[in-house]
Amino acid sequence: MSGATAGPRLLLRSLRATMAESIGAQERLDKVASLIASNMVAEVCSIYALRTDRALELYATEGLNPDAVHKTTLRVGEGLVGLIAADARPLNLPEARSHPQFAYRPETGEDLYHSFLGVPILRAGRTLGVLVVQNATQRGYAEDEVEALQTTAMVIAEVLASDELTGLSGAGGDLDIRRASHFAGTTLCDGIGLGTVVLHQPRVVVTELIAEDIPTELRRLDAAIASLRLSVDDMLARGDMAAGGAHRDVLEAYRMFANDQGWVRRIKEAVQSGLTAEAAVERVQNQTRARMKRQASDPYLLDRLHDFEDLANRLLRVLMGKPQTDMTAELPENAVLIARTMGAAELLDYDRSNLRGLVLEESAPTSHVSIVARALGLPSVGRAIDVVALAESGDDIIIDGDAGEVHLRPTPEVVHSYGEKVRFRAKRMERYRANRNLPSVSKDGVHVELLMNAGLLVDMEHLEEAGASGIGLFRTELQFMVASSFPKMAEQQALYEQIYDHAKGKPVTFRSIDVGGDKVLPYLRMDVEENPAMGWRAIRLGLDRPGLMRAQIRALLLAAKDNELRLMFPMITEVSELRKARLAVEREIDHVRRHYEVEPPMLQMGAMLEVPSLLFQLDELFEVADFISVGSNDLLQFMTASDRGNTRVAERFDPLGSPYFRALRQVTEAADKAGKSLSLCGDMAGHPLAAMALIGIGFRQISMSPAQIGPVKEMLRALPVQELQDKFAVWLNDSSGAPGLRGLLEDFAKAHQVPY
Ligand code: PEP
Ligand code: MG
Repeated sequence: MSGATAGPRLLLRSLRATMAESIGAQERLDKVASLIASNMVAEVCSIYALRTDRALELYATEGLNPDAVHKTTLRVGEGLVGLIAADARPLNLPEARSHPQFAYRPETGEDLYHSFLGVPILRAGRTLGVLVVQNATQRGYAEDEVEALQTTAMVIAEVLASDELTGLSGAGGDLDIRRASHFAGTTLCDGIGLGTVVLHQPRVVVTELIAEDIPTELRRLDAAIASLRLSVDDMLARGDMAAGGAHRDVLEAYRMFANDQGWVRRIKEAVQSGLTAEAAVERVQNQTRARMKRQASDPYLLDRLHDFEDLANRLLRVLMGKPQTDMTAELPENAVLIARTMGAAELLDYDRSNLRGLVLEESAPTSHVSIVARALGLPSVGRAIDVVALAESGDDIIIDGDAGEVHLRPTPEVVHSYGEKVRFRAKRMERYRANRNLPSVSKDGVHVELLMNAGLLVDMEHLEEAGASGIGLFRTELQFMVASSFPKMAEQQALYEQIYDHAKGKPVTFRSIDVGGDKVLPYLRMDVEENPAMGWRAIRLGLDRPGLMRAQIRALLLAAKDNELRLMFPMITEVSELRKARLAVEREIDHVRRHYEVEPPMLQMGAMLEVPSLLFQLDELFEVADFISVGSNDLLQFMTASDRGNTRVAERFDPLGSPYFRALRQVTEAADKAGKSLSLCGDMAGHPLAAMALIGIGFRQISMSPAQIGPVKEMLRALPVQELQDKFAVWLNDSSGAPGLRGLLEDFAKAHQVPY
């Protein structure tokens, strides 16, 4: 081979020309093999493609017996070719036959050749095939030849990823890249969506591989790395984690990689070998990915691999002048968004009308992006591991939010069965719609108020449609989260007025702004905290920043007019905080009377019970509060010491467990004793079985996302409440533990034909 740069450059030019020719797919692949062989002065060049059945099939060869094409196969891990595919690493052998894994395939006529160089054909972390050159003489291939073959493999990856090879396989199957994939994740929002993949961070496809001028490429690389480091430092300094929903440790990992001399050196070496800066980044990314994937059982390393991928993609985008994500780009109809993680505000930036689903690799049901997805009624699934690496923009996809499943590139059978499922679901929805005006009363006549959670104006259209009796939780912070700067008092007032208009007299419970934790306001400077969920958030922030809280209270007092203002405060930890909040409201009432000459509305002030310490101040709490709403998302996260946004622990403990229900029963008993109103507005209220349990321990008001009201009402109307309540008295006193509260509830529901 002739030198490190001229050879590959010439080869890539001819390859590019071959790609552009209007010839058949097989002919193109044959030509590619022959070009590589002659450029690398090799007698043999063979291209093996990975099929859906994980066999590597010989797709083209120059030098081996042509009759072996589409006949010879090796399994992943079998023979030298299989070994390269399994390890995603090159193999460079002067004498192939002396390697213990050598597997002889007589039909190929391979016995004439001694030396062997094979490289994996990689694309976005996936092995698509193997590219091999062989020579009759015993020779070791030089390092620059290995590099050159890897570069060439990047071009072949694009051919394998295109559609044109469909139907060529000798076995009649398809290539692995088009394999149907199934992901069993967790439900973030119910519903079924059939559509087309849109990657939230589109994969950057590097098309210019070969450098025209190496010093220029090195300068471009230096500038891009400098700009990348600056942007990461900047994100860290601002504590701005809203952008990607990212946490501080992710940013720290970014910073570590961005300053990793080994990484930068390897990219520079790849540029020195003749690649463009972006091709060099991609090459090193492929290699790092392959290396780290071999140690993939370590979850810590996997996380770091994700961080590394994000960073390398950022660098590619800087080099190619592409925005990090473009939420304003036109979406295809039926877009299903795919991302590793996403901030709640980012989701809101997309045009809702074309969105059919959301698939995330991370994120738990009570995270805020999930809450927003539910507010939008967007079928969503979390914990779909590896979906980002496996999906291509434009792929067909089915998202089944009901089952928490995702089908990528579904087979015709799956598409057909989903057609049935969608029709069945539509019938069920029709039934819920028809039931929406039926009273929400149990089989034995107990009335339970089914309220709806909201946070945006768009939610309000569901009020009527879902048949909710009011808004049990209005998360006022969503207005703040979607704004680019602090909403002024007049803007807040305008939103609240619209909410009252849409509510048409139904009760609305506003919650004062609950930011901090994973609810980040990009424009609010906050110190970076080690444990933000337990940090300076919600009422703590409100009491320390009275200006912010006063403006909101005033906006609410002015907006309510003839409506009753129901206002509650989040994260109350000691009753004294609720007293202070009440005082702040009273001061604002005075202010409104004096400066606006407005009589304050009827007022009910409550607290959210979401910090376990309140469980030990119940009597005092009910004296001070007009009403209480249990925020079970936070309450459970703090009772179980498990971060609600951390997918590894968020669902570790079943909320339908006796310890939590014993605590909740104390709350219902205290509310009864005090004669005060009590509701629960966390995620569990919307799951029929959990809602049934809550009713069984005495809750008579529960608030959930609008789509959950239909199923919960159907459950309620079949439920014999008194009988369940009697059972609970026994169940919660039983300390034997078997068979568990969930099992008992399921048995009860089945025995009484209660749909859940
Ligand atoms: C809760 O904590 O249960 C709750 C309803 O509030 P949020 O989910 O907004 O924290
Ligand atoms: Mg909460």
